[in-house]
Amino acid sequence: MGHIGIRDLEVFAYHGVYPEETEKGQMFYVSADLYPDTWEAEHRDDLDSSVDYGAVCEYIKEVMTRQNYKLIERAAGEICEGLMLNFPKLHKACVKLYKPEAPIPIPFGTVYVEACREWREVYIGIGSNMGDKEKNIRSAVDLLSQTEGIQVEKVSALIQTEPYGYTEQDEFLNGCLKLKTWMPPEELLKRTQEIERLLHRERKIHWGPRTIDLDILLYGEEVIHTRDLSVPHPDMINRRFVLEPLDEIAGWVWHPVEKKTIHQLKEILSKKEAMSHD
Ligand code: AMP
Repeated sequence: MGHIGIRDLEVFAYHGVYPEETEKGQMFYVSADLYPDTWEAEHRDDLDSSVDYGAVCEYIKEVMTRQNYKLIERAAGEICEGLMLNFPKLHKACVKLYKPEAPIPIPFGTVYVEACREWREVYIGIGSNMGDKEKNIRSAVDLLSQTEGIQVEKVSALIQTEPYGYTEQDEFLNGCLKLKTWMPPEELLKRTQEIERLLHRERKIHWGPRTIDLDILLYGEEVIHTRDLSVPHPDMINRRFVLEPLDEIAGWVWHPVEKKTIHQLKEILSKKEAMSHD
């Protein structure tokens, strides 16, 4: 796939930590690599089917001059995220911000930072078995949608399920969400855990009652094993309350470890369940 590149856009601005930088200002140079789907523009020859690079340059200048940042990392991040939000055709953007007059007392060519953002497709499992369960789930979905860098694209129907693990507790209400996000997996986990805390999730008993439980089921086709995160979620293939709502919104989606679609995994689980009932 093609992409659009902008090189060395000159912007005079006042970013920096030192007083001479914020008072006198200096010249910055911005380069951007923008990744829309260029196929349509390559065939239709019509500006509406592409991203207007003139408008992109104006936008970069606006961000560079509306506020002073101490760090060029922050300025590059703001430009990159703003481009992703303001130019919805982009699925990825990388911005390099150069500061050739940076206060370094040794001769040097230039100094620069790079920020990249890419929309990734993520599926989240959501459940509640305390209080007003539907309201808890709606609140969690709202909090996710209000998060910068997260867009909730689909919400499955919610299903009632028997408690799992610790069975002396109320029934669960479960569902799945499809998001697009530019947050890396660890940052997304921090945000889902923050939402669990905001909604007063209690975790006295492992697998015990909870106002809200958010699990990252799939993050694109990535396989992740860190201290805090396993993706795909290791238990998802054994849980009907995950596979049923997930099949509704993502039956064709590929499980990168099982090497099967979600629909196939649900069928396999149904067969296993039928055999264990015989
Ligand atoms: P739970 O009680 O099911 O919400 O589990 C929460 C713990 O599981 C947290 O400490 C997370 O760090 C960890 N964890 C590992 N993988 C995942 C995942 N894919 N989604 C959410 N939590 C995860």
